[in-house]
Amino acid sequence: MQSTTLSIGDPIEGRCTKCRKNTDHIIVTLVEEAPGKVQCNTCTRQHKYRPPSVPKKPAVRQIKPRDTDRKEWESLRPNMNSAKAREYSMTDAYKLNALINHPVFGLGLVQRVIGSQKVEVLFEDGKKTMRCQ
Ligand SMILES: [Zn+2]
Repeated sequence: MQSTTLSIGDPIEGRCTKCRKNTDHIIVTLVEEAPGKVQCNTCTRQHKYRPPSVPKKPAVRQIKPRDTDRKEWESLRPNMNSAKAREYSMTDAYKLNALINHPVFGLGLVQRVIGSQKVEVLFEDGKKTMRCQ
């Protein structure tokens, strides 16, 4: 079995606060078999051992369609006059930018007329395709 015990004078990779990056160090002191002080091979500075930092992955934030719908809703909502909204009915015809009042989804804005008998409506919960005449 290979011993993992560290000794003074052993090379060890760590983060150097002066170089501000991961550099090779030499162990100067040991504290309970863990590196205490180390000396940086690059700048020869002695400092407390810091484990090498792991480069952070760039945070790729996936914007869910729902989030963009929500933002759109929030930006358009102040211009929606709910008093002008019509009760939603499958047998009604709807024009672009018409306001409807759906029994389940609430206030909605017609954003797209998809062919015949379908409209895309932006609700607080997101976009939904609704049937109409
Ligand atoms: Zn250094």
